[in-house]
Amino acid sequence: MASAFVVANFPSSDNSPSLLRHDDVVTLFHEMGHALHHLLSLVSENGVSGINGVEWDAVEFPSQFLENFAYEPQVLKIFATHYKSAETLSDDMIDKIKEVKNFESALGLLRQLEFSIFDFKLHQALHVGNEVQELLDSIREEFSLIKPPSYNKFQNGFAHIFAGGYAAGYYSYKWAEVLSADAFFAIVDEGIFGTKIGKDYLRIILGQGGSKSMRELYEELRGEEAKVQSLLRLNGIGV
Ligand SMILES: [Zn+2]
Repeated sequence: MASAFVVANFPSSDNSPSLLRHDDVVTLFHEMGHALHHLLSLVSENGVSGINGVEWDAVEFPSQFLENFAYEPQVLKIFATHYKSAETLSDDMIDKIKEVKNFESALGLLRQLEFSIFDFKLHQALHVGNEVQELLDSIREEFSLIKPPSYNKFQNGFAHIFAGGYAAGYYSYKWAEVLSADAFFAIVDEGIFGTKIGKDYLRIILGQGGSKSMRELYEELRGEEAKVQSLLRLNGIGV
């Protein structure tokens, strides 16, 4: 039997129950995504059960997947009510929450691509002295819309890839988002609750843990690879 703990710091007050900001709800959904991935495993071999043994670039898939539902009216209206008046969050307000999330999302996406490609290329060859700056400049030439000033030395403090375990793996943030966005819309487009694809997700993605590669599991779920267009749609780009 598996157990999982979600440990979080949420606002507290003597005069009211803990009133979560939307950011907190997103965090709770995200961490619950990890917890459910672990708890709903059908695999009895510990090393590949739940989140164990899942590839680095797929382990954030179920968490980011669940996080996306924190912006869906059908989901928010179940629990997002005023703690005194019991008034439900309006459609207008939910639209605004989504709009704020997507504000300048394309710039954020470009920045993540710049970091990911820099990380990959930096690990493909030995770069000495000014070659590191030149490599980054050449990537920015292609991918960044707003160029940082020349005194910016972001590369010297890119701790994720030097001390954070993400060496040649920074792309995994975005790749897990592609998987999560694609699976999310597969379910949302069918109406969210009680869908066949939702049950398949439970059995295949949450159920199989690290017993197969995520590529195989995803193929089993969708019959095709995850589409990058789903991530753009999730970020409100080109829609
Ligand atoms: Zn996470």
